Amino acid sequence: MPRTDVTDKICSDCWNRGIDAYGTGQVFLRRSRKYTRLLQALSFFGIIVPLLIGGVVLGFGTKEAYLEKLITMAAVAGVVQLGFSAWSIVYSWPDNLQYSLESAAENFDLAIKFRELGELAQAPPGDLETRVAVLKAKDEARQMADNRKGITAKELHYAHRAGLRQFGRACEECKQIPRSMESTECNTCGRF
Ligand SMILES: [Zn+2]
Repeated sequence: MPRTDVTDKICSDCWNRGIDAYGTGQVFLRRSRKYTRLLQALSFFGIIVPLLIGGVVLGFGTKEAYLEKLITMAAVAGVVQLGFSAWSIVYSWPDNLQYSLESAAENFDLAIKFRELGELAQAPPGDLETRVAVLKAKDEARQMADNRKGITAKELHYAHRAGLRQFGRACEECKQIPRSMESTECNTCGRF
């Protein structure tokens, strides 16, 4: 297939989609780390509170004077833990963790494949359009699902910076190629 303006445009679109997919993957990877930490904290408190109380009783016996205080403390800790558990159920931390991991993996895969197609601009293969169409369909389905999870403006900025950094592209607004994931004052690739 000869290289034309049309194939160039298709390949450049692939690069842009690759950048977006990579950035979205990083957003969900970051979310997965957050949910992992929250779930670890939840399990930790579930174990540590009864363990501490058991340990204290075993070590110091059940002398009445401090037992009352201990029971009060245990009750407070229990209420906090219940609140924490309710929070995890309402916000479905385990489901969100699983979704985030799946989305990150698929977005990274899409980014690699879009990049491969983008690199074919010099010598576009005969089946370029078909390959792009298949990948675009997958990308759009992923985007629809990801959008239902609500991506915030700050996460979009983070995604954009991550994509530009990975692909070595300059930001349209500040004209800089991001070298780190430190937030800047840029309204497109910073302020997150
Ligand atoms: Zn910028």
